[in-house]
Amino acid sequence: MQNGSTAPNNVQNVNNNLNNNSQVNNQSSTLMSMDNNLGKVQTIENQMQSDQQQMKTIQKEMKTIQDRMQINQNKVQTIQSQMQNEQNKMLIIQNQMQNGHNQIQTIQNQMQNDQSQIKTIKDKMQNNQNQMQTIQNQIQNDQSQIQDIKNKMLTIQNRMQINQKIMQDEQEQISKKEKPVQDSQNKVQSDKKMTQQGDNKTLLNNSNEKQSTPKQTLGDQKVSQDLHNISNMHQDKNLNNSNNKLNMLQNHNSDFSRMPIVDIVNSIILTGVNAGASDIHLDPTDEGITVRIRIDGLLRDYFKLPRDIKQNVITRVKIMAGMNITETRLPQDGAIKDTLKGKDLDLRVSSLPTKRGEKIVIRIMDYSMSLKGIEYLYFSETNYNKVLKMLSTPNGIILVTGATGTGKSTTLYSFLQKLNVEGSNLITVEDPVEMDIEGVNQVQVNSEIGLDFATVLRSILRQDPNVIMIGEIRDSETAQIAVRASITGHLVLSTIHTNNSLNTIERLLDMDVERYLLASALEGIVSQKLARMLCSKCKVKRQVTEAERNLFKSVLGQDIDEIYAANSSGCPHCSHGYKGRIAVQEVLLINQDIRDAISAGIRKDDLRKLVYNKDVITMLQDGLFKVVAGFTTTDEILKLIEVDDADFGVK
Ligand SMILES: [Zn+2]
Repeated sequence: MQNGSTAPNNVQNVNNNLNNNSQVNNQSSTLMSMDNNLGKVQTIENQMQSDQQQMKTIQKEMKTIQDRMQINQNKVQTIQSQMQNEQNKMLIIQNQMQNGHNQIQTIQNQMQNDQSQIKTIKDKMQNNQNQMQTIQNQIQNDQSQIQDIKNKMLTIQNRMQINQKIMQDEQEQISKKEKPVQDSQNKVQSDKKMTQQGDNKTLLNNSNEKQSTPKQTLGDQKVSQDLHNISNMHQDKNLNNSNNKLNMLQNHNSDFSRMPIVDIVNSIILTGVNAGASDIHLDPTDEGITVRIRIDGLLRDYFKLPRDIKQNVITRVKIMAGMNITETRLPQDGAIKDTLKGKDLDLRVSSLPTKRGEKIVIRIMDYSMSLKGIEYLYFSETNYNKVLKMLSTPNGIILVTGATGTGKSTTLYSFLQKLNVEGSNLITVEDPVEMDIEGVNQVQVNSEIGLDFATVLRSILRQDPNVIMIGEIRDSETAQIAVRASITGHLVLSTIHTNNSLNTIERLLDMDVERYLLASALEGIVSQKLARMLCSKCKVKRQVTEAERNLFKSVLGQDIDEIYAANSSGCPHCSHGYKGRIAVQEVLLINQDIRDAISAGIRKDDLRKLVYNKDVITMLQDGLFKVVAGFTTTDEILKLIEVDDADFGVK
């Protein structure tokens, strides 16, 4: 290339030299230089040729390079299209990922949904279980009620049998006596004279005559006699007044619509309280309200309130009891603690919605009995001493048993009062707290907030009490804690819904209390029932029937000729010859033989023989003693206690 570019300059130089030489220099030198120039041209041409060759070569190389570039461009294009492809694939994958995310999101949402559904279902299951529990409890309740009714039916059947026997006997006697009528009339007159001379002496003599343990019975009779006198002392004059008031109210039945509602309700309550009633029932009817009052266990109609004041009377009672007057469709509980015309009232009120309106029951809490003490509970002397013995033990369980409304609480409170001495720590857990006792820590169970018997008991044990009173043992958990508390140095008092000592032991074992624990824990069982008490002012003496004579002979081992009967027309002091009630008791002090038997799990029949050995006065014996002592009648006792044929000497 360099040569190529210099070539034209050389040609120019040659021409210049030619011009110069032709004018100035000689011919020869000119020729020589021409030859030279020609050579130079030749050289240049050669060079040009080689340059052209080189250029060709270069052009060829360029072509090769261009071809290569073309190939590379093609490759690039291929790669680019491949990249494009990859990008598309990535896009697709990204889309798929996005899809996946969305699906995960959806699944997570579904899971959340499912979890909340599971929660809802669990809640429902919990609800259902609670409902089932409630239903099971109701079934249990119903079953125990059925059992109660069956027992009552059995008692009634027995009573009917007994009455038939009595009637038969009486008929036989009548047919025997028909001939010597005159004689017997004279005899009756002389009997009456004798009776007037001194009923009590006669009774005492009778019981002394053929008793196997005359001293003990004499003691029992003496206590009974004391109690009798005490009860006479306490016969109150209020009844007379309240009877008059009742009559007044009954006469004024038609005037109720003119009396202020407040006065009507106060009158009803005072009537019940003054008459010594245990409860007052306001029963809604289509015509208004029937007011019934229970005295000595018998519920009687007292007066009727007209329909136009029905709702106002119910509302007034609910207001007094602190109940919600706008709620009429659900049962409610309330209480009235007030003073009305000088009377301290402690009333428990409950309402129950019925088809004809709300039924109100007012329970009158009367603790005058328990405040008087154990001495006033009509225990026989033997039983009284057993009770004192069990109350003097530092630890163990003492149970008071009986059906609802048999005065269990009264007995329990009396025991508690006996133990309420300075230096002892007494705690009760009750539902409800029925009576405030000074010096005793009383805890009210509140199951709505989870404060049940078992929970309270566990806390109580940490407060190191000497005596714990549990209102009622209703479930296994409470039974087990009670037993555990008693074997760790506490005296435990409680009630349980059974009808005698033997059933109480069985019941506790049914509640999964360990045999060996129960055997060492149990100290005593007091079973009781309530019989109507004869009015001391108008009771009448009568001859025993043949069946009764056999009964007294076989059960008490005594020859009894005369007992008292109720004067069915009554007197101003009583209703139908009865006034107040008396407890019939069976007291079992647990001895070593019984402990061993419980622990070993012997058969019920064998346990029965141990429990009802010669040391125990059975409820029937106690009841008949109280008949002989003139407190009550055979009718009342036979209504309460099942009697076997064997008890009448029938084999
Ligand atoms: Zn009377």
